[in-house]
Amino acid sequence: MQEHNEYIEVGRRVLVPFGKQKVITGIIFSIHQTPPKEYEAKYILDILDSQAIVLSSQLKLFEWVANYYLCTEGEVLKAALPSGLKLSSESIIQLNPDIEITDITLTEKEGYIVNALKQEDTLDYQQVSQLLGVKNVYKIIRSLANRHIILILEKINEKYKPKLVKKIRLSRQYTTEESLNQLFEALGKKQKQIDVLLNYLKLCKLEVNDKGILKTVLQKENISKSSLLTLVKNNVFEEFEVPISRLESYVQEDKNIKLSEEQTQAKEKIIASFEAEKTALLHGITGSGKTAIYISLIQEVISSGQTVLLMLPEIALTTQIVKRLRVHFGSKMAVYHSRFSDNERVEVWQGIVENKFDVIVGVRSSIFLPFSQLGLIIVDEEHDSSYKQYDPNPRYNARDTALVLGQMHHAKVLLGSATPSTESYFLSKIQNKWSYIPLMQRYGNAVLPKIELTKTHYFGKGNQYSKVLLSHIQNRLDKSEQIILFQNRRGYSPFLMCNHCQHIPKCVRCSVSLTYHQYHQELRCHYCGYKQDVPRKCSSCGSHEVHTVGQGTEKIEDDIKLRFPEAKISRMDLDTTRKKHSYEEIIQDFEEQKVNVLVGTQMVTKGLDFDNVSLVGVLGVDHMLFHPDFRSRERTFQLLTQVSGRAGRKEKAGKVIIQTNDPKLSLFSMVIKHDFNSFYQTELTERKTFHYPPFFRIIRLTVKNKDKGIGAYSAQQLAKELKKVYPERFVLGPEEPLIGKIRNYYLNEILLKIRRNDARTVSYKKAIKQSIEKVKKIKKLASSQIVIDVDPM
Ligand code: ADP
Ligand code: ZN
Ligand code: ZN
Repeated sequence: MQEHNEYIEVGRRVLVPFGKQKVITGIIFSIHQTPPKEYEAKYILDILDSQAIVLSSQLKLFEWVANYYLCTEGEVLKAALPSGLKLSSESIIQLNPDIEITDITLTEKEGYIVNALKQEDTLDYQQVSQLLGVKNVYKIIRSLANRHIILILEKINEKYKPKLVKKIRLSRQYTTEESLNQLFEALGKKQKQIDVLLNYLKLCKLEVNDKGILKTVLQKENISKSSLLTLVKNNVFEEFEVPISRLESYVQEDKNIKLSEEQTQAKEKIIASFEAEKTALLHGITGSGKTAIYISLIQEVISSGQTVLLMLPEIALTTQIVKRLRVHFGSKMAVYHSRFSDNERVEVWQGIVENKFDVIVGVRSSIFLPFSQLGLIIVDEEHDSSYKQYDPNPRYNARDTALVLGQMHHAKVLLGSATPSTESYFLSKIQNKWSYIPLMQRYGNAVLPKIELTKTHYFGKGNQYSKVLLSHIQNRLDKSEQIILFQNRRGYSPFLMCNHCQHIPKCVRCSVSLTYHQYHQELRCHYCGYKQDVPRKCSSCGSHEVHTVGQGTEKIEDDIKLRFPEAKISRMDLDTTRKKHSYEEIIQDFEEQKVNVLVGTQMVTKGLDFDNVSLVGVLGVDHMLFHPDFRSRERTFQLLTQVSGRAGRKEKAGKVIIQTNDPKLSLFSMVIKHDFNSFYQTELTERKTFHYPPFFRIIRLTVKNKDKGIGAYSAQQLAKELKKVYPERFVLGPEEPLIGKIRNYYLNEILLKIRRNDARTVSYKKAIKQSIEKVKKIKKLASSQIVIDVDPM
């Protein structure tokens, strides 16, 4: 409708007609004056927001993500917006409670709506349309709304609720000395009520009576609650509500950070790199004090009036770093991740729009926040695969997106890691496109830990622990030093096996074995969540002799408890960290040394900083190395280096023991010698030879179908189409992946390789979409789903 023209603004949500019946919500992406040629444009039905909820700079980033990762902008929006701000296609209407309807003359149709609302409370546009038997109901609804008979509500109002607190103040008529005195007289001998009044006056001066005091504060005084109630009832006091922030407030202790000489040098190199308009990679070994450098850089940027985004790969990591940053940035720092409630996230989002924060610390999705004065983006642990979203769309990498966000805002970008990705190492150290800034010394007097390899020995019931590791554990326990044990598998044991026929229970929906969880007495699929009771006997031969194979974190916790009954043990993995504060609790207990041994999955390997850990045990890595993936060597190197880095971070010398059955592998000797150069050199040579990143980009297409044959055939057809456009030797597959079936869908993968900086990249990407459309048009194959993953991790 034309009347909306003046309210149109990029970033506001609107209701638009879609097809004949449907109304959908959209966001204004751009405003232009050229009517489309192919179809007749329709008018917008309504504008939902009085101000933009998404900035145009964000929309630009969303557009980039959609184009680069080959998904839709709607999918990006979905990932970006906290659900309190999410688009809803339904506006709902309700009667205005403040209006007396009997006094108003209504048309017949208006009368229907009002009557229906008396019974139904709320109606959406579609329901109104059905009720009246007409399609276009917006005019009628508008007219009712303009006369304030009804209210148009948005789902957003339902979803985001400000947090309110109750306050108490004196009614206006008692705010002069004189009227107060009269009031006291009138109360006469009602001592309890007089006490309430006196207590109030003690807490709140008359001049600031308007602001009142918190009801809870008044109630803390020794007063009679019923007397307070009476005073409210008699209009002596009035009760009112004010919204408060859900975000806790903190004091800024403003500790000055003092960098060591090496740290200062690294910082100066970073600044010089920024001045040369270059992205910087800080390769700082574990314990070198990267956080201190970040803090110092952040302080400089915010003193120039700009804001900083600090990204971390995992929530588990935020606990400790946030604590350290709070000291310096207090309430000017906001934290953003999925453990926060949706309302809290909306408040962070709005706080950023209102320029309330100097520093935002967040995980992957924080890249989508409404920044405006961004001066610096820091991506800590830049190599981490958690920066990549792998399901669902958008399958974006937040590290790579950060570089684009930085460009859009003319902000500097700093990547930091003790084990940079091969790509980042290549771009900085080898190609000099970015600056490479090494920091190869631990802070203070700490030195890197000594790493030892040991074979595993079997102890009854298939337990695999090396004697060396066990004796070291005893030794550290005796000295009251702490221990971290890493195992890459959660659950009790990766599978059960029949002694007689070697049968292994598998998931009914996926082609993987079921993991045994002892505590819950269940077999669980880690891919689809399927659960079943532990079978009493082998489902294949009926034998009762079924045993566990391998050891997950749950079993290690158990075994260590049995062997070292005096030790306090805790466990950090997906199963123990489902609640909002569980990370914090586990980490804090370990920090306070209430726990001696921390057992965990990759969560314990990253970024954590404990003073008293002198031993790290790595129980199972062998299977990681043999994963058929071009990144498996890099991953293993990073993981071993990172987990080793948890030991000996302060005065106590650290020791790392890695259990392996293949101690001769060259990768291990690189880890032991902390020999980064050899590692990256070998890795780059391999990557170059076999056409992998950073020399080539990879796009993985996964064809999914519940029918094995149709899935395979679709994949073949897709590969055929792609080969028409791509150089044939860079289309690999289709091939069944290691796990060929997940959630009842059979999988087939095609890998595409595109030379880095190939000018045809954009047209190749277009060709992917076209090839997919072609295959989907073949009737028999329409049921195949095709997932595109650009730069898979
Ligand atoms: P990294 O993240 O590089 O592994 P951290 O930033 O966790 O290392 O630093 C390791 C330890 O050294 C931490 O306990 C940290 O508090 C301490 N540290 C590092 N730099 C400083 C500094 N400049 N002043 C005081 N303590 C520091
Ligand atoms: Zn059997
Ligand atoms: Zn499954």
